[in-house]
Amino acid sequence: MTNQPLITWTQYQQHFLTERSCLEYLFRLKWPEGFRCAKCRHTAYYVITTRTYPLYECKRCGRQTTLTVGTIFEKTHTDITTWFAAIYLLVQETEVRTARIADQLDINYETAWSMVRKIRQAIANPQCVASAPRLDIG
Ligand SMILES: [Zn+2]
Repeated sequence: MTNQPLITWTQYQQHFLTERSCLEYLFRLKWPEGFRCAKCRHTAYYVITTRTYPLYECKRCGRQTTLTVGTIFEKTHTDITTWFAAIYLLVQETEVRTARIADQLDINYETAWSMVRKIRQAIANPQCVASAPRLDIG
């Protein structure tokens, strides 16, 4: 690990400022070659947008999935953009203090502490790629 930031704050903001761009990033992580049903391998899907985050339903077998299932974002009440910003801060600077993350992201300390704990666990398990977004933009 070098001290060189993986991406700059400006680059970060260009790529991850909106919920939509964060979800697009998760989509590419989950299905780098496009949607593929985990059950029947079909590639066509419907998107159901009545929930907080989109639900993807296989057109052939009807199996539903989300971009956040199995990741640290599953069942969270915190905005995905806040999560991504916290990950950005932690990846740039591993010693960053939880209080500073809470301050910078305008969330309470308990929420920040819980997020930091989950993100550090995910970073420690890099084989679990979907749970540890590195925020690569290449
Ligand atoms: Zn299917």
